Amino acid sequence: MKLLVVEDEAKTGDYLRQGLTEAGFVVDLARTGTDGAHLATTDDYDLVVLDVMLPGLDGWGVMRRIREAGRTMPVLFLTARGQVDDRVKGLELGADDYLLKPFAFSELLARVRTLLRRGRAKEPEVLRVADVELDLMRRRVVRAGRRIDLTAKEFLLLELLMRRHDEVLPRSLIASQVWDMNFDSDTNVIEVAVRRLRAKIDEGFEPRLIHTVRGMGYVLQTPEEA
Ligand code: CA
Repeated sequence: MKLLVVEDEAKTGDYLRQGLTEAGFVVDLARTGTDGAHLATTDDYDLVVLDVMLPGLDGWGVMRRIREAGRTMPVLFLTARGQVDDRVKGLELGADDYLLKPFAFSELLARVRTLLRRGRAKEPEVLRVADVELDLMRRRVVRAGRRIDLTAKEFLLLELLMRRHDEVLPRSLIASQVWDMNFDSDTNVIEVAVRRLRAKIDEGFEPRLIHTVRGMGYVLQTPEEA
């Protein structure tokens, strides 16, 4: 089993490499995000241990490059901040587990072994909420058996709303996740997109799923969740 450790702090990196080597793994150590991303996308690893706080290309950036390159090995990320936002962000980018710094080596080893047993990260291929099905592989949406045509942005927007259904998503989050832009309050691009998506998803169907929460954002919710 070959592991990649991406960690800029010399002591922690050396300690992880030594510990994991002693535990029987082949270990490569990258000390920058750029090196880490390069190795992770060109060499073949069974798992990556990824520090979030890296100078230059940070852990999120490395994570993104790994998944964009189509690499599906599990990623365990190390975060010193331990905020829920960090955890959520990491998991959304496709990380499989996280560990707060400082951690006991035995804990890290246990997580690594669990992830390796679980095998390669598997995305669910179809998201389902109520009678809506979103097929990630075929880029297809069906509600109550009826095919619904969406633009690429509408598809991304619906995917985000479905992944985090029953959660009010602020416009700023939608802007960054779907349009990859900072929220600019002068633009009504999100309102327009939500209106169009709602017309396709909710008009002619029961119940309504996409709701506006005034002053806060949008939520996709079934009546049972409300
Ligand atoms: Ca660091």
